[in-house]
Amino acid sequence: MSTTRQDLAIDPPLAPETLAVHPWATATGRPRAHRTLNAPLHLSTQWEGADLPQLAELFARDQDRGFYTRFGHPTIRLAEERLAVLEGAADALLFSSGMGAISTSLLAVLRAGDHVVAHQSIFAQTIQFLEHLAAAAGVTVDFVNAAEPDQVAAAMGPRTRLLYLETPSNPAIDIVDIEGLAAIARAHGARVFVDSTFAGPMIQHPLSLGADLVLHSASKSLAGHADVLGGGAAGAAPLIADIRRMRVLTGATLDPHAAWLLLRSMQTLPLRVRAQSDTAERVARQLEASLAVSHIRYPFLPSHPGHEVARRQMALGGGMLSFALHGGLASTRRFVDALRWIPLASSLGSVYTTLEVPEELDFAVEEIGERASSFALPPGLVRLSIGVESAADIQRDIQLGLDAVTECAGGLSSSAERE
Ligand SMILES: *Cc1c(COP(=O)(O)O)cnc(C)c1O
Repeated sequence: MSTTRQDLAIDPPLAPETLAVHPWATATGRPRAHRTLNAPLHLSTQWEGADLPQLAELFARDQDRGFYTRFGHPTIRLAEERLAVLEGAADALLFSSGMGAISTSLLAVLRAGDHVVAHQSIFAQTIQFLEHLAAAAGVTVDFVNAAEPDQVAAAMGPRTRLLYLETPSNPAIDIVDIEGLAAIARAHGARVFVDSTFAGPMIQHPLSLGADLVLHSASKSLAGHADVLGGGAAGAAPLIADIRRMRVLTGATLDPHAAWLLLRSMQTLPLRVRAQSDTAERVARQLEASLAVSHIRYPFLPSHPGHEVARRQMALGGGMLSFALHGGLASTRRFVDALRWIPLASSLGSVYTTLEVPEELDFAVEEIGERASSFALPPGLVRLSIGVESAADIQRDIQLGLDAVTECAGGLSSSAERE
């Protein structure tokens, strides 16, 4: 028998940076076939069977090759395989948005009477959806500070089916210990879901730390160009199969064109994340050194309360940080008004450096202030998402903002005024 290239297993296996680029590659080789170098984009929502038995066969066993797009689709499938490879997961699914991934995954595993323990400071709409399940579906939810593992252990009970984490968290940049908390959950027979949007698969692998499911808003760094809305979930095959069945019912399917853009974007994910992390760490140190700053959270700053955990479970610090200024919201407004070019924008994780002030957005005030889980964000907290522009340009603009705050405060020249 002649040897083809597909028979030649690649040893050692290809690195994630390589697999992210090649839409067809697997860790051990590639299929030998005449095919497009780029992934094809199929725009038909339906596939023809040659006869009724073949159509039935596509429906029963081969939905990803093409049957009807809500069930599966070859371009979406390629992007799902990329995500699975990057997460080190047996299987992965993509969704119409991060909330599509989160809501569909929760609906797939929770039943009336089940109890959920969740970190208190997670994405606002995830909290809202958990509270909706509590009100409408007979699920009970306890929000605790999962940065303190004892609080999680104390909240676990006989009906606890799920521990829901998000790290680093949006917008507070809390870090929780995935491995330690997963051990607590396992001892109680509960699953662990981790929203890893702020880190992404180049920075942390929640599945290898004991999580059952890793969730993403693909709208953020996976897509990375502020032009795609999408979500992802990766984990073991049986759990993914359950979530996939629920996705057929919720209809939270990713658009195939968005899947194609996502495939293209994931090719540069390793490059973008390294550049963003480099610059973010510099900006974090700049902010920490400023007398105008009262609070700064970046996972790789030694002053972060979760710094040790972050160094253990994250390969890079990521592009997200949050900070507050002496003088609260009034100083934040002064800071923002002094910026020359950094845009104020709602989302994050893209090639653009952007910032947002959650307190200024109504939904955050309502849901972060008055819900079952009550915790305080520092007044005027700024969430900064670092892009891939020149680090010097970013730091210069940030410095203009900081200078506007110190000039106005005048007396802020003494370090004794720092908290
Ligand atoms: C943005 C975000 C989501 C929601 O994702 P969408 O794509 O906007 O639906 C969920 N979790 C985190 C941490 C996010 O930042």
